[in-house]
Amino acid sequence: MLIETHAHLDYPDFANDFEDVLRRATEAGVTRILTIGTSIASSQRAIEIAEKYSSVFAVIGVHPTYVEEAGDDVMTPLRELAKNRRVVAIGETGLDYHSLPSKATAKDKKVQVFASALQGETEEQIDASIKDGAYKSKQAALFEQQLDLAVELGLNVVIHQRDAWDDTLAIMQPHTDKLRGVFHCFGGSLEQANEVIDLDHLVSFTGIVTFKNGASVRQVAAQIQLWKFMVETDCPYLAPVPFRGKRCEPAYTRLVAESIASARGIPLEELAEATTETAEEFFRFNR
Ligand SMILES: [Zn+2]
Repeated sequence: MLIETHAHLDYPDFANDFEDVLRRATEAGVTRILTIGTSIASSQRAIEIAEKYSSVFAVIGVHPTYVEEAGDDVMTPLRELAKNRRVVAIGETGLDYHSLPSKATAKDKKVQVFASALQGETEEQIDASIKDGAYKSKQAALFEQQLDLAVELGLNVVIHQRDAWDDTLAIMQPHTDKLRGVFHCFGGSLEQANEVIDLDHLVSFTGIVTFKNGASVRQVAAQIQLWKFMVETDCPYLAPVPFRGKRCEPAYTRLVAESIASARGIPLEELAEATTETAEEFFRFNR
């Protein structure tokens, strides 16, 4: 028995064969699926799916790369949605500095990033860094709101963090001991994993552990304490080997688990039991 802790079942990628996707998950031993909202509308759809299928639970939130489309207040709509009993956590929320406006500008204009250091900033670059600042502070504001809401509702949080490690931890710091987070799609070092584990948070691993160039993540998954991590696919993205590049689906959680079990030299059953118990404790189904 496995729990898929991070799927985006509401995405159009699953519209044509939804029932088959769920059936294949069950056949692969994936008995529960967490479907994760990325906007208010997506969170609404996540709840609808969770109400319809008993194996699916919903996590509701606004993804950091969707903050531009979100209003200034996400607490009011999320608080309303969280009244639904199928909602088991807040997220995914966090910080994502991977595609900042300045990077887009540099790419569009073929501006060399180091040019600014050598020659002083151009007006365009100054403009881009102002936009970066505004984008980052909007992400931070919505992240803080969602952490506050999670504390208010006594829910844990699914964290999305990309190229923003220090800022993410700084924003979470005041909430230490009031909530737990899972750093989903973990791709950091063992030291970083232990840093958040020491704060009573968890990490979770995707199909990246099966990739040829995923050796460092696989290594972390092999060495991290059992009971401190969960498994996920982040479908429709990140399909594990041998499906890499194709649409991913919750059934492949098994491939992620198998890969980690073999890296640790333990039976799949042992890994499945530990990650399932960890997920049950973290998400507190049927609260
Ligand atoms: Zn996701």
